[in-house]
Amino acid sequence: MNRDDWRYCPRCAEHSEWRDAGHPPSLQPVCQSCGFVAWQNLKPSVEALIVRDDGSVTQVLLGRLGMGPGKGRWDIPGGFLNADDRLHDALRRECLREMGVDVAIGELLGVFEDEFAGSRIISIIYVCRIASGEPRAADIVDEVAWFPIDQTPEIAYPAVRDALASLRERIGR
Ligand SMILES: [Zn+2]
Repeated sequence: MNRDDWRYCPRCAEHSEWRDAGHPPSLQPVCQSCGFVAWQNLKPSVEALIVRDDGSVTQVLLGRLGMGPGKGRWDIPGGFLNADDRLHDALRRECLREMGVDVAIGELLGVFEDEFAGSRIISIIYVCRIASGEPRAADIVDEVAWFPIDQTPEIAYPAVRDALASLRERIGR
């Protein structure tokens, strides 16, 4: 949250100032003219930890980032929720976009805190399995591969590291 941002009201274009708003109060950009509050919230992202079983070993599907702040490191498919998104629809869309697979969405693994491009975000991560399609790199991903859950490469984001640790703990590895 950058307090140099939101200096003008998006509704009436007059000056906004950061001051207490809401109950309990928190600092928000409030228009000095019309009173409009541009509420600042954590940004939610929905992500898929896609798994498969190879004998007794659980494998996870990861994609290497070909661009952006995590370039060269590995990540799971997902993305920010748009205002009119439904959770599951958005998750399936992101898996198709980045890896070309349709997923069956399983249980919620957890909700994890992270940071992206200077903003604090929350990552909502589901355990998924491939319903159809062969994984391929697309969009921001330049390589895809399956890894044993306890032998993953360098992961781009703390939330994904935490999610992998949580899954390892859950399946007792
Ligand atoms: Zn205003």
